[in-house]
Amino acid sequence: MNKLKTLLPVVLLFVSGLMPFQNSEAQSHTDRILIDKAEKITRDNFSFSGKTPKGAKIFSVNQPTSKMLTAIDKGLADLFAVARKNNYTKRTNYSDYTIFIAKADRTENSNKQYSPAIAVGAAQYAGSVYDQGGFVYAAGMVLAFKPCAFIIADHTKDFESVSDVVRFEGEHLVLYHNDRQLYNETADHSKGGGHPILQ
Ligand SMILES: [Zn+2]
Repeated sequence: MNKLKTLLPVVLLFVSGLMPFQNSEAQSHTDRILIDKAEKITRDNFSFSGKTPKGAKIFSVNQPTSKMLTAIDKGLADLFAVARKNNYTKRTNYSDYTIFIAKADRTENSNKQYSPAIAVGAAQYAGSVYDQGGFVYAAGMVLAFKPCAFIIADHTKDFESVSDVVRFEGEHLVLYHNDRQLYNETADHSKGGGHPILQ
C-alpha cells in the first residue's frame, strides 16, 4: 500500500510528461467561463486542454490528433496572412486564440458528403433555410470576442476543411477587433454573405 502511494505520482508525472494534452484541473477564471459557455452550447464535456504547436489554446472533448492541431495552426496562419494584407494588426498572434474542438453532431451533409458539424440553437437562423427544427448545423461558431474564442467540429479526415473553418471563424474575430463596421456588415449570415470575407 505504501509502496503504491509513492509510485503513483511518479507514474502520473511520467505519463503527463509524454502527452502535451492532459485532463487539466487548473484553469483560469476566464477559461472556466469559456468552457461553461461552450459546454452549454454543445452539450459536450471539454475534458482535454493544451496548445497547438504554434501556441493557440485548445479545449477538446477527445485528445486531439496532431493532424487537427496542425490544421488549426494552418487556418490561423492563413487568417493572419490575409489580416496583414488588410493592415489589421490586432489579435494576430496564435496565443490570442482559444479553440474548442467539439464532438461532431453530424458527419455528413444532406448530399452525403463528409462535413462534420455541431448542432446549435437556431437563434437568428430560426425559420431560415438553415433551420433544422430549432437548431442549425454549423461547421464552426464564434464563442467569445475577448478573448478570441470559437468552436469547431472534430474531424477524422479532410483536414483542409478544418483550416478553412478556423480561418473563417477567425475572420469574424479579426474584423471585430480591427474593422467594426465590416464586422457588423458580415457577422450575420442569415442576412446573406459567407466566407471568405477577407481577400
Ligand atoms: Zn461566419
